[in-house]
Amino acid sequence: MKAFSSRLSRRTFLKQNSLAGLGVALASSSVAALPAIGSKSAQVPAILGGPPAWAEDKWPIWPQWNPATDEKQLLEVVRSGVWSRANVVTQFEKEWAAALNVKRSLAVVNGTNALVIAINQLGIGAGDEVLVPPYTFIASVSSILSNGAMPVFVDIDAETFQIDPAKIEAKITPRTKAIMAVHVLGLPVDMDRIMAIAQKHKLLVIEDACQAHLAEYDKKKVGTIGNVGCFSFQNSKNLPIGEGGAIVSNDEHFMDLCYSYHNFGNPYGTAVGSVSTGSVMPGTKLRFSEYQAAIGLAQLKRLDAQTTTRNENAAYLKSLIKDIPGIVPYKLYDKVNRGAFHLFAFRYHKDGFKGLSRENFIKAVKAEGVPCMSGYSTLNTQPFLGETFKSENYRRMYPKEMLDINQYNEQNKCPVNDQICNEEAVWLTQNMLLGTREDMKAIASAIEKVHHNVDKIKTLGQK
Ligand SMILES: *Cc1c(COP(=O)(O)O)cnc(C)c1O
Repeated sequence: MKAFSSRLSRRTFLKQNSLAGLGVALASSSVAALPAIGSKSAQVPAILGGPPAWAEDKWPIWPQWNPATDEKQLLEVVRSGVWSRANVVTQFEKEWAAALNVKRSLAVVNGTNALVIAINQLGIGAGDEVLVPPYTFIASVSSILSNGAMPVFVDIDAETFQIDPAKIEAKITPRTKAIMAVHVLGLPVDMDRIMAIAQKHKLLVIEDACQAHLAEYDKKKVGTIGNVGCFSFQNSKNLPIGEGGAIVSNDEHFMDLCYSYHNFGNPYGTAVGSVSTGSVMPGTKLRFSEYQAAIGLAQLKRLDAQTTTRNENAAYLKSLIKDIPGIVPYKLYDKVNRGAFHLFAFRYHKDGFKGLSRENFIKAVKAEGVPCMSGYSTLNTQPFLGETFKSENYRRMYPKEMLDINQYNEQNKCPVNDQICNEEAVWLTQNMLLGTREDMKAIASAIEKVHHNVDKIKTLGQK
C-alpha cells in the first residue's frame, strides 16, 4: 500500500508541478553539469525547478532480453508444440541446482506456491506455528496460512532489515514447527544463528530466497542451508521469467515428495505408495512449462555477471551516501560473501534532514530522476490475518483463544518493523544497480542535493 500510494503521489505531484515534470523530461542535456560528489551542490533541486541529477528513462530496463542470444531455444520450444513440462524444464532444473550447488531443484508455477508446497511436504499444517519476520512480501505469510498453519511474527534487526535472531527464542512454543528465514531485499539472514536455534529446539528451517538468487552466506548459496529453499522468477525478480518458482533441497526423498505433490500425487522417484498405479499421495497441479524454462535458461546465463555488478555498485553507492547525515545504508552480517541486492535499502532519519518527512524526501529525490520508494507496509497488522481467523476452516482447527485477533495483535507486535515501514525505509530497485558508476554518483548526488537544500524544500511542502 505504501509503495503504491507514493507512486500515486508522484503522479499527482507531476501534474501539479509541470515545471519539475519538464525538468525530468529534459534531464539528459543537463547530466554533464552534474557536480562532483561532496561539492554540496549549489544547484537548485529539481523539485524547485532546477535541473535533475539524472534522467529517469536512462536507468537500465527490466527485464533484459537479447534476441540474438536469447530466442533460439525459446523458438524451438514454441515450434515443437511440446509446451507442457518435458526436457527443457528438466534442463532448467539441473542448471538451477548446479548454479546453487544443491542436489535437487523443482521448478513450479511461482514462488508463492514453491513455499506452499515446501511447507506442505515438510508436514506443517493445522495447529502448527511458523516463525516469520513481518518485513517481507505477503506470500511468506499467506503460504503458511494456505496450509492451515499459524504465522508467528518475529521482529527484525533494524540494521540489516532481516529477522532478528535474538528475538526468536522468546516466540517458540510447543506448537512451533519451523522458522521461515526470509532473505529479504536479497540480503542473507544470519543463518548460523538461525540454524543453531533450529537445532537446539528441533525446528525445521524454510528459506524464502525469493529475492535472493545467488546470494551467499559462509560460502553457501542461500536457499541451500536450511531444510528447503524457495525461489521466485516473477518479472521483477533477479531471474525474471514473468512467472515461475523453484524449490531446492539436498534431501532427495523430500524433493521426490514435492515433485509428486506438484503433479497430482503421481508416483515419482522414492515417492511411491503401496500400490503401483494411480496417485500415491494427496496432490495438486503446479507444474512449470517448457517455454518458461526456455526463457529461464536465457536469463540464467546473465545472472552471475549481473549479481557481481549489483554487488560492486551497491558497495560503491553505500560508500558514497553513508556519511550524509540522516542516511544509514543496509548492513551485511559478517559471514555474507555476496548479496543478491534485489533492492538497495537505507534508513532515512529525518533528524538529519531538519525534519523533512520521508514522503517529501522521496518526492524530492524522485524529482531528481532517481526513482525510489518507501517499501513494505506492516504485514502483521493487515486485515487478511483476522479474516483468515474468522474462517470456518480456522475455527475448526484452532482453539478460540488462538483466533482472537486482538490477543494475536498484542502478541505479534513488532515495533522495530513498525518504525522501519512507517518512518525509515527507502528502496531503490535492483535494475538501477546494473547501471554505471556515473549512475551511482547521480543517486548520491540527488540525495546530497536534497540534503543541502532541505530548508528550501521544506518551504515548498508548507505551501
Ligand atoms: C516475490 C516473493 C514471493 C512470491 O513469489 P511469486 O513468484 O511472486 O509468487 C515470496 N516471498 C518473497 C520474499 C518474495 O519477494
